Amino acid sequence: MGDIQALRGTRDILPDEVGYWQQVEATAQQILTRAVYQEIRTPIFERTELFERGIGEATDVVGKEMYTFSDRATPPRSVTLRPEGTAGVVRTFIERSLYAQGGVQRLWYTGPMFRYENPQAGRQRQFHQLGVEVIGSADPRADAEVIAIATDILQSLGLKNLHLTLNSVGNLEDRQHYRQALVDYLTPYQDQLDPDSQERLSRNPLRILDSKDKRTQEIAQNAPSILDYLGSYSRQHFEKVQQLLSNLEINYQLNPRLVRGLDYYTHTAFEIQSDDLGAQATVCGGGRYDGLVAQLSGPDTPAVGWAIGLERLILLLQLQKLPVSLLDFYVVSRGEAAEAQALILAQKLRHSGFSVELDLSGSGFKKQFARAERSRAIACLIIGDEEAASQTVKLKWMASKEQQAIAAVDLLAMTDDLHQQINTFRATQ
Ligand code: ATP
Ligand code: MG
Repeated sequence: MGDIQALRGTRDILPDEVGYWQQVEATAQQILTRAVYQEIRTPIFERTELFERGIGEATDVVGKEMYTFSDRATPPRSVTLRPEGTAGVVRTFIERSLYAQGGVQRLWYTGPMFRYENPQAGRQRQFHQLGVEVIGSADPRADAEVIAIATDILQSLGLKNLHLTLNSVGNLEDRQHYRQALVDYLTPYQDQLDPDSQERLSRNPLRILDSKDKRTQEIAQNAPSILDYLGSYSRQHFEKVQQLLSNLEINYQLNPRLVRGLDYYTHTAFEIQSDDLGAQATVCGGGRYDGLVAQLSGPDTPAVGWAIGLERLILLLQLQKLPVSLLDFYVVSRGEAAEAQALILAQKLRHSGFSVELDLSGSGFKKQFARAERSRAIACLIIGDEEAASQTVKLKWMASKEQQAIAAVDLLAMTDDLHQQINTFRATQ
């Protein structure tokens, strides 16, 4: 058998990187749980039609990027690996009648998504998103809440240099007015637009505004602003969202070119971008989709949500800092009696709630110490012949290099103290 390599656009997450993922997942879960968002897990593949109707056939995602194949049923069905999470969550909401419980559903999900794209840093074919959907509220406070939660997650991870950009795409009626004004403005420049945008001019002109083509962007710069076409409900909704964000001390910039072209997107649209990610700058994208549940044949229900791209988030974490070490003790031992005692001590410490790694190499102390350093443990426990004979252990704090000898029983009797000291060290990491 020849060498089999991972498919282009997929990546292995190796043990030396997985700490970042666990940290992100734990932080997000804590923040979401405090806000009483509930996790939902939907299948990774669905009928292709769900995405065609739920994302829109005119989008790049559906038009160019989906992993679609026929299964083995007779006649075969067309199925698709999910390219995003919202469509599946909304299908579940409708199919399992989650609306029957009344009130607002606050949901979150995480997992792999699949898009056939040109792979580069921060853009893969299998990638991961963490997302929230708040279904059943049209209130601007729901928009502000989801934005605040996204901001909280990113800030709690210690990320800096992030910018929130905000817009409103109004409702369907506002957009019909705006669409006409936009087409009137763009038509004289038709020949200068990139080929995709030329085609969109009649089908989906709003999407020309987020073209990545330089010349098209220059032209779009002076296009009429959608904010001038909002009706009074839309204007009030958007003003309220801005007011609430200011109350929460969340900074934002308005960008009238931040749009989503499809009919079921309404009102708030937003993105959180980083200065440090080059071309793949958007870490989080979201907004309101009051028309989607009805579009998928559910009861007319307003909703708002976002999705964070976890690969991009983790690239940022890797640029900015090391993950917090999860290891409390690294245990070094040498000599038969010492090794036997070290194994027992490690087990006892684990029972008391510590994370403990036992060096199994049997090599000299120097090599074991070097591995203790690399392990990023908070403290090292050392047992040699002398310690084994006297039932003691040397406790060495890795940061300060302070070292003390202590009876093994005493060490196990002071676990509360140890937990506290370890937490203090970790907080200053
Ligand atoms: P982009 O303009 O970068 O293609 P998008 O508009 O297609 O993004 P969304 O569908 O809004 O992205 O997805 C939300 C987030 O998921 C993005 O902001 C990004 O962080 C992440 N994301 C999207 N596609 C990929 C991908 N192929 N690889 C890695 N992350 C991705
Ligand atoms: Mg994309």
